[in-house]
Amino acid sequence: MASCPKCPNSELRHTLLMDDLPAYGCSSCDGLLLSLMMYRHWQEMESVHFSESPTAVLTAMVADTHEPIKCPRCRSLMTKYRISAEIPNRVEYCAHCEDIWFDPGEWKCVEAIARSGHLAEIFGQPWQRQIHRKISEEMETQRLKELLGADYGKFAEFRQWFLSHPNRSRLLALLSRKRI
Ligand SMILES: [Zn+2]
Ligand SMILES: [Zn+2]
Repeated sequence: MASCPKCPNSELRHTLLMDDLPAYGCSSCDGLLLSLMMYRHWQEMESVHFSESPTAVLTAMVADTHEPIKCPRCRSLMTKYRISAEIPNRVEYCAHCEDIWFDPGEWKCVEAIARSGHLAEIFGQPWQRQIHRKISEEMETQRLKELLGADYGKFAEFRQWFLSHPNRSRLLALLSRKRI
């Protein structure tokens, strides 16, 4: 196997995740390389049926690699993918080789997702779109909080009441009128 994408002098060595999912690990940085093909094979062998997808969990502060990483197999640049809106870390993926690079600790964040059969979805558009939607919603909320300060709670409560009101278009028209 090739050398670690982060430590040029360290060979990636065979290791096992979740007892019998074969992967490659670097003994010097503790990073992991996992093939999606191996993952699919493991899924079939273990008869892992898709269950509801759990969310990624941050078990500890995990350092992320910000610089570009080259795929250990084909040497082309790997693409970075967010795993959730809550965790800033991005995992690297080579679409050509279907290999995933996990910085130390990142595997733990997605292990539950892998066990439930959803690991490959992280690299698909619906998963990524959902993350970006959530991030922009959170930014919007943050902007509103800054704008409204202590009144934010009042606003959020009113908004919820308003949105569920059967006559909301009539209410909307009335809201901007000085006299009712
Ligand atoms: Zn390494
Ligand atoms: Zn590759």
